[in-house]
Amino acid sequence: MAMPPLPPPPIPLRQRLLLSSDFDDTLVGNRADPRHSAGSAAFAAAFTRLRHPGCGTPARLAINTGRTLPLFAGHPDAELRLEALGLRPDVLIAGVGTRVYWRRGRGRGRREGGGAEAHEARGGEEAGGGAEERAPPPPPLLLRARAPRDDGTGGQGEEERGGRGPRWVEDAAWTAAVGEGWDARAARRAVEDALASRPGGMAAARFQRDEELHAHKLTVSFEGGRGAADAFRAAVVERFAATGASREPPRLVAGPTASSGGRRWYADVLPRAAGKGNALRFVAGAMRYGADEIASAGDSHNDECMLALFDQRRAIVVGNAHAELRASLGRLPHVWCAPEDCVGAAAVLRGLACAGGGGEGWVEAAALDGAGGGGDG
Ligand SMILES: [Mg+2]
Repeated sequence: MAMPPLPPPPIPLRQRLLLSSDFDDTLVGNRADPRHSAGSAAFAAAFTRLRHPGCGTPARLAINTGRTLPLFAGHPDAELRLEALGLRPDVLIAGVGTRVYWRRGRGRGRREGGGAEAHEARGGEEAGGGAEERAPPPPPLLLRARAPRDDGTGGQGEEERGGRGPRWVEDAAWTAAVGEGWDARAARRAVEDALASRPGGMAAARFQRDEELHAHKLTVSFEGGRGAADAFRAAVVERFAATGASREPPRLVAGPTASSGGRRWYADVLPRAAGKGNALRFVAGAMRYGADEIASAGDSHNDECMLALFDQRRAIVVGNAHAELRASLGRLPHVWCAPEDCVGAAAVLRGLACAGGGGEGWVEAAALDGAGGGGDG
């Protein structure tokens, strides 16, 4: 009888690692771009080995995305692509830091048939890493992953996984912190008023579809570029101040949309407490990771506040990042900008292995050779 193949060996980590990575155009890219596809596969292979029990404390992965939960969980363009690569994040920071969801039912708890395993599963029971990681407070909400449209057509999400799809548990403490002092109805009206004033030559402006929005995330798209974005920001701040829609001025993140080739821009209007950087701080605290054990990676404007967190060990700006981002972050000592031909997940992998931006990497570059990633991405 043929012996089953041996699992790939662990890749030793020099120290603990919590990686907070953007999703689109960072961990996965355009399916038609073979550079992205190869990089995603190499990253998945290597990260699986960084999570091996033999690593001591396995690496942890937080997906930190602008997508809301319905546009990630069980979605054919998002979570299902990660699962096809064999990559399962521990935590999902969604909606530009407005929500935090902990994975429930992974590892031992899931195989034993579910039940009341959520608390231990969130804290890191997988592969023996739980002893030093405190589980966050108990969750009040349990959200099952499902297809983007619950229209009964099936073929996605839970059904493809035999009805045992991953479950994401919303962190109510974070949601409450984000929403403090924020009047959702008044905020919506303030954004509507700002749009109606057509600031700065803004054209063809509209709210994005409902599944991209929620009480703490108001996303619009428009034409008019940077000038319109800046004028819209001023109009939004003025309307919020005039109406008392929030206690503090809102956070506004704007940038060109990848799908329009830069013609259309998006703007996310969020509570001040949200944002990818603040949410990462919260998650790292809940998982008891120190600043020197954190790496982040991203490519676009809504990643900037995460990448700019000055006390993290390393921020990785991928080679396909927007030029504005490379220029604004490139001089910070903890930031490593990948060469422009080192794109997406290949750049993330190289950023973990190379020296620079906060010291030596987490792994020996040579150790990644067998994972297909190599040290030179
Ligand atoms: Mg991105």
